[in-house]
Amino acid sequence: MSYLDNIKIVLVETSHTGNMGSVARAMKTMGLSNLCLVNPIIKPDSQSISLAAGASDIIKNAHMFFSLEQAIADCNLVIGTSARSRSLQWPNLTPKACADKIVQEAVNTKVALVFGRERVGLTNEELQKCDYHVSIPANPDYSSLNLAMSVQVLCYEIRMSMLNLQNSSGESTEGTHVDFPSNADTERFYEHLQQTLLNTGFINANHPGQIMGRLRRLFSRARIEQQELNILRGVLASIDKKIG
Ligand code: SAH
Repeated sequence: MSYLDNIKIVLVETSHTGNMGSVARAMKTMGLSNLCLVNPIIKPDSQSISLAAGASDIIKNAHMFFSLEQAIADCNLVIGTSARSRSLQWPNLTPKACADKIVQEAVNTKVALVFGRERVGLTNEELQKCDYHVSIPANPDYSSLNLAMSVQVLCYEIRMSMLNLQNSSGESTEGTHVDFPSNADTERFYEHLQQTLLNTGFINANHPGQIMGRLRRLFSRARIEQQELNILRGVLASIDKKIG
């Protein structure tokens, strides 16, 4: 198994089966094969197979999920893609920086690159589950690429980064390895944080406002390591104990 299998391309609620096929082709030409479909509006069909051309194996082996949460639960790095910036700015990467990060981390852990619906992209809630966002810097007056074409561009960058890593394989990255928590662990931390803040009265259940969104952004920016997450869970547990 190659470390490239650790890179999941996640498509959320895709509505055109042709796009699934074109995505598979875009992935396979760039050496990627791990395709995850979250609640596709229509299951892959003959049109996906025909547009996938020689990459129909990727469609046949695609993993199906009922929710984005499920698809990314075991990933330690999750990057969401978007054509435009949203109301709450998030830690952002250029396509090249995104690819470098994905390739570096995929050597040791699972990573996901998440793509949205053809018409409306990813929801703010879905984007807030991601550690980083990436946008292809397209024409500001017309920035939305076709889904499969955006997959092609970002997978091309991943391939370039992979080839660079191979060429510089003499340079050791040993000793610099850091453990990052899985997305599922991070979600459990946010649930715990929210519960504790409700208990202390810092968040009002009827008027939660944007506090959790902003806290998620703060922790995403910091890119919490596993040990730091354990400390934060300990801090919350100590507050829980004090307030009973
Ligand atoms: N109106 C939607 C566009 C959806 S295009 C929006 O604003 O998000 C479908 C998907 O293609 C997007 O969810 C994203 O995953 C990808 N995509 C399209 N254009 C992109 C761009 N410029 N940069 C990064 N991803 C893009």
